[in-house]
Order: sequence, then structure tokens, then C-alpha cells
Amino acid sequence: MTPAQISAGQEALESAHFQLDSAAERLGLDDGLRAMLATPRRSLTVAVPVRREDGSMDVVQGFRVQHNVSRGPAKGGIRFHPATDIHEVTALAMWMTWKCALVGIPYGGAKGGVAVDPAGYTTRELERLTRRYVNEILPLIGPDKDIPAPDVGTDEQTMAWIMDTYSVNAGYAVPGVVTGKPMPLGGSLGRAGATSRGVQIAALSALGRSPEGVTVAVQGFGKVGAGAAQYLADAGCKVVAVSDVTGAVYAPDGLDVAGLRAWVAESGQVRGYRDADALGLDELLELDVDLLVPAALEGAITEANAPRIRARLIVEGANGPTTPEADRVLAANGTTIVPDILANAGGVIVSYLEWVQNIQACSWSESQIERKLRDMMESAYGEVKSVAAERDLTLREAAHVIGVGRVAEAHRMRGLYP
Ligand code: NAD
Repeated sequence: MTPAQISAGQEALESAHFQLDSAAERLGLDDGLRAMLATPRRSLTVAVPVRREDGSMDVVQGFRVQHNVSRGPAKGGIRFHPATDIHEVTALAMWMTWKCALVGIPYGGAKGGVAVDPAGYTTRELERLTRRYVNEILPLIGPDKDIPAPDVGTDEQTMAWIMDTYSVNAGYAVPGVVTGKPMPLGGSLGRAGATSRGVQIAALSALGRSPEGVTVAVQGFGKVGAGAAQYLADAGCKVVAVSDVTGAVYAPDGLDVAGLRAWVAESGQVRGYRDADALGLDELLELDVDLLVPAALEGAITEANAPRIRARLIVEGANGPTTPEADRVLAANGTTIVPDILANAGGVIVSYLEWVQNIQACSWSESQIERKLRDMMESAYGEVKSVAAERDLTLREAAHVIGVGRVAEAHRMRGLYP
């Protein structure tokens, strides 16, 4: 494979390693500890055979990677996407480790994936696929070991099937094995919109001025992007453009986000929304807006398009949307980036709150959840901002120094067995 042919997953993993190396250098970590932090503790690839409706069988690949478990059980979403591979899942697991440490929740980092396009499967096929995948990774997961959650291409229903499959194997109900569940199965109030709410909190903190009239473009109109667009509009921002994989829509006077969400619920895509103009996917990223929220996949902002990005503030709803080369270009242009491990941490924060409710068999009100989420996001944002100012770092560099530093400290305190 020539360098030009490396997969998106390999590129994501290279970015993750670059960020770790830079933080390790700043923290003065020794080579052994660096190697420990660069290497996933457990990495499992499984074959997932699926019976199709016509009686034929597909066999797809599934993955679960536990990057680090020094601070607590592994935690991370499960992605259903055709391009997912072991490299991408490893990078996402590594980012989860730093994210949990950064926001101060007692988890390590994990991620899972199945290389499949969920749009090409019926609901019954997806249920069979999910259950079989869970069965294959069963030795790794559990409420004290590794707790999955939704990510790209998965949702509450997927989590319900995971909870059921695990519970049937255990012989009793185990709600704490998974987060992002439906409410009747032990889900938490506020979890569905938590990542988006966290993006809003991070964006408003970084804006440092009234959100009234601030123009916003959002890439990706899924669970994170649509909610972020809604919360930002609710706060007074003017969301002028959004995209999904099918296309982008643009309304310079501001989109009616609720109307657009209703259109997407009906049609399955943003394209064709009647109160807006069509826009190219790349054009959306380069719009002259105050705030850009990438909320789709990794590698959206690269060295190639970074010089054309005009937003002064980028708040990363997605994991890994900006490559290290693009980071350099944007920093030189004076663009502020609130990095993924901070900006999208609202999801894992409320996942943690859901898990605590599950294992304590209690439930908290929506306002309690919202308050805890806001406190944790604002406190993490404040820490990142002050480390960045003290050490003359970008917000991403500062966030990694804090996250990697806390995991390194946990390793030092635990020592090495045997
Ligand atoms: P999702 O599957 O609900 O939505 C993904 C959206 O991105 C869809 O609208 C899809 O059409 C769109 N998309 C894909 N490729 C695109 C492209 N090239 N251009 C424009 N849009 C494109 O997934 P999600 O849960 O919203 O996750 C989005 C991102 O947020 C991922 O990076 C994920 O890892 C990250 N994230 C998700 C959560 C969560 O709680 N769901 C938490 C933290 C981080």
C-alpha cells in the first residue's frame, strides 16, 4: 500500500498517535509509558454472520478495542459504517481514553464497530446482526468491564438489543451493560441530546459573547449534528447551513431547524428541504460563518481545505474531524478549535450518569442531569482554557496534556504487574 492508499481509519490512527506523542513530549513521559499509552490493552476482531431476509448469509467484520482501563471500566460507542476498520476503532478508543480522563469520569476508553451499511439492512436483519456481534464480543463487555453506547449508525434500539442479548446470557436483567438505552430499560433523561447539549455548552463558552445572530454551519445532521443545530438555534444563533451524506442546504437568513428536522424525519435526508437552497458538501465547510460544527466523520478538515475555512471558531461534534496538518494551518490563521475530546464529551458524561443510576438502581430528574452535565462541561472547558493560556498551547494540545497526563499518572500510581 502506498501512503496515498491508506484507509481513513489508518489516517485517524496516525492523527491519534501524533496527538499522543505531542502530549507525551510536553509531559516528559518515558518511552515505556509512551508505548503503554500508544498500545490498546485488548483488541478483538470477529466475524459476524448475518442471515438475510432472502435466506442467504452475509459475513461482515466486527471489532471491539479497549484502549486503556487504568482508571476504570472501558467505555465507548459502537459504530455501524461500511468503512470502519480496526485502525479507526483503535483511534476512536484512544480518544475515548483521553476524553474520559479530561472530564474526570472514572472510565477507560473503548470503541466498537461493524463494517456494514445499516441502510442496506432491514430492521430484523439489523437485530440479528447486532445480537450476533454482541455474542461474539461477549467476553469483553459487562457493567464492570466495558460499557458500549451509540455512535454513527447505531441508536437506542441497537442499545436495547445489546442489553437484551447480554441479559439473556447472564440470566437476569443487566441495564448497566450499555448506555444510551431507551428510558423503559433504564435509559437516562437527557442522554439522547447530551452530546449536542455539550457541543452547545462548549460553543457558547468559546464564543465569549452573546450568541444572538452568530452564524453557524453544521456538517452532519445525525444524532449529534441535528441536536447541536437545534440547541444553538434555541440559544439565538442563526444556523445557515447543514449537511448530511446526501447533500447540504443553505438559507442565509437562517434555517428553521425544527422544520428541517421534521423534513429529515419524513424523507430521511436534508436534501430537498424546500425552505433552503442546495449547497455542495465541501462548500458548507468553507462558508463565511462565525462557527463551524463538524459533526459527521473523521478527516473532514484537511490540509487541502483548511486554507479555505473561513469560520473563526470550530467546535468539533465529531471525533477526529480535523487532521494535525489542518490544525497547523488553522492555528496559523488564528482559528480557535474546541477539540473533540472536550466538545463532544457531553455524550459520555451523561452515559456515565446513566450507568451510575443503573448500578445504584436510582433515577435523577432531567434538571439534575442537565446541571451535572453543564457543571462538568464548563469545568473541563475552564481547565483546558487555563492550561492553554499557561503553557501557550492550542485548546487541543492543552486538552491532550490534561487527558494523557491523568492516564499516565494512574499508570504510575498503580505500578506495573507483575
Ligand atoms: P449519526 O449516524 O447519527 O449521524 C452521522 C451524520 O453524518 C449523518 O447525518 C450522515 O448523513 C452524516 N454524514 C456522513 N458523512 C458525511 C459527509 N461526508 N458530509 C456530511 N455529512 C455526512 O452519528 P452521530 O452519532 O451523530 O455521530 C457523529 C459524530 O459524532 C461521529 O464522529 C461520532 O463518533 C461523534 N460522537 C457521537 C456521539 C453520540 O453520542 N452519538 C458522542 C460523541 C461523539
